[in-house]
Amino acid sequence: MSESKRLFFAIEIPAPLPRQIVRWRAGHFPPEAGRPVAAASLHMTLAFLGDVSADKQRALAAMAGRIRQPGFTLHLDDAGQWLRSRVVWLGTRQPPRGLLQLANLLRAQAARSGCYQSPQPFHPHITLLRHASHAVAIPPPGFSWSFPVTEFVLYESVSGQGRTRYRPLQRWTLNE
Ligand code: ATP
Ligand code: MG
Repeated sequence: MSESKRLFFAIEIPAPLPRQIVRWRAGHFPPEAGRPVAAASLHMTLAFLGDVSADKQRALAAMAGRIRQPGFTLHLDDAGQWLRSRVVWLGTRQPPRGLLQLANLLRAQAARSGCYQSPQPFHPHITLLRHASHAVAIPPPGFSWSFPVTEFVLYESVSGQGRTRYRPLQRWTLNE
């Protein structure tokens, strides 16, 4: 029997945005606000799958490959903090319909394959700081960042030596 992997579907943040985001973060949050997510690890999760066997991974990848939907533009124009999950995040005030459709489809496919899905609705966000347990001042997002989303990615979450890295395993293009 092969080992399971910790997997999730997400949107990759294209260059040069991660560097710009990290620069903005450095200028607006003190070091004690929380643990910064590395530029290379910034992402927007679409569906969390948890520990998945190789067989189930294949089935989920096959379903993902059958998704036909157009790409969309993501505007990052919002920021906030969730004290319960202790994260400071970047997001979008008006999630595009394509984003919600894609996430809901991937979540439904995951649920059908037996991957537990939280009953919480999908809240699209990019985690900027973890372990942000004290309320911090969230600066008004004085940025205007947009990028076209033309693909989604299956990532493996790999933990070790006190940190977690995300390894892209497979990607699928959203049709024009
Ligand atoms: P770590 O848990 O090791 O501190 P992490 O949270 O970045 O690091 P994972 O827990 O593997 O790593 O999560 C991968 C991605 O999936 C992250 O974007 C995380 O926010 C999201 N995620 C994790 N668990 C869930 C869950 N139960 N429901 C929805 N999204 C989740
Ligand atoms: Mg986690």
